[in-house]
Amino acid sequence: MDNGSPKIAILGAGVVGMTVAKILQQDLRNVDITILADGFKEDTVSAVAAGIFRPGTSFRGPTKEITKKWIDDSWNFWQDILKTSEAHKAGLMTLGTYIFSKENYHVTRNHLIEDVVPIYRAVDEDELKLCGTGWKYGSYFSTIKIGCDKYLPWVEKSFIENGGKITRQKIDSFASLNSKFNLVFNCTGMGAKTLCNDYDLVPLRGQIVKARVPSLKMAFYGDYDTYIIPGMDGVATLGGVRQYDSYNRAVCKHDAAAILERCYDLLPFLKGAEIVGHKVGLRPHRVPVRVEPEIIDGVKVVHCYGHGGYGVMCAPGTAMEAVKMGYDILKSKSKI
Ligand SMILES: Cc1cc2nc3c(=O)[nH]c(=O)nc-3n(C[C@H](O)[C@H](O)[C@H](O)COP(=O)(O)OP(=O)(O)OC[C@H]3O[C@@H](n4cnc5c(N)ncnc54)[C@H](O)[C@@H]3O)c2cc1C
Repeated sequence: MDNGSPKIAILGAGVVGMTVAKILQQDLRNVDITILADGFKEDTVSAVAAGIFRPGTSFRGPTKEITKKWIDDSWNFWQDILKTSEAHKAGLMTLGTYIFSKENYHVTRNHLIEDVVPIYRAVDEDELKLCGTGWKYGSYFSTIKIGCDKYLPWVEKSFIENGGKITRQKIDSFASLNSKFNLVFNCTGMGAKTLCNDYDLVPLRGQIVKARVPSLKMAFYGDYDTYIIPGMDGVATLGGVRQYDSYNRAVCKHDAAAILERCYDLLPFLKGAEIVGHKVGLRPHRVPVRVEPEIIDGVKVVHCYGHGGYGVMCAPGTAMEAVKMGYDILKSKSKI
């Protein structure tokens, strides 16, 4: 390794790795960054996500304060892009969202974002009838959606234009990176399970149905993980399931049937919509999300993985913290 500018590797090209890359390039000049990953764009879990900004209570950092900071920083990062003429190309859109429940008032509230989004309010009697009868509780909030089908290629393009390098490669150990890089960001999502021997990282299997619904302009959530989220291109994401510790990457026709039944119950007019696809993704679930420096086999590593069902929305806040840790560990001579 020469003594010039530091050589940095980012393992993983999902939303977390690409966002770390974007933040690093915004911050530093004369830095040599390589993204190493065995899957890109549509081959990542990030590409399965609808990408709505709505954290669940299972999203947690090491403390309440850090969790909140990650969420607030992420919101501001996305707002900065939304204000630019690049927003559409980057896959960002604003989105009015209803969340209804027949059973539980608490699921309609969200203490993590009620003070972040511009509107979060209880619905009135008329709105409760928007999705048929029997809905007892509901909230409306305005949020955003980040479509990784656009965001990942958008970041990749500017990363390369700014001198970044990309290599398709599976990494089996940190030792193999020793002497090649001064600093490594580990953004491998579920891949960290084997790379780091991390027993706390568990797949939370998700499956979705894609349906063409150009008239749908708002998102709807119902009970039991039921959601209908419009996309920029007129194709909506219908979900979902959360299957703990399941590694099944195949589409399950029974899950698809159950998803459609629940979504049709929530919005009956969807019954006529053309089904254009089915997807499965394993959410990298870990409590807390791991954003942490470590020296492994002589390599300075900053981990940033385990975002579960909230990695798209919260990639920026966690990436900012990881990058800060990266600068600190790069300067330090001592062992962690
Ligand atoms: C159905 C579903 C719906 C979702 N909805 C939302 C939502 O609405 N909002 C939201 O915020 N989040 C949502 N999520 C969660 C979100 O998709 C994840 O939290 C996020 O994609 C995790 O991003 P990541 O970059 O950590 O992982 P990934 O996207 O999986 O990327 C990991 C990268 O690491 C690479 N990699 C792994 N191991 C290795 C290795 N050994 N060597 C080299 N490369 C390696 C992979 O090839 C890939 O490039 C949803 C997930 C699913 C499944």
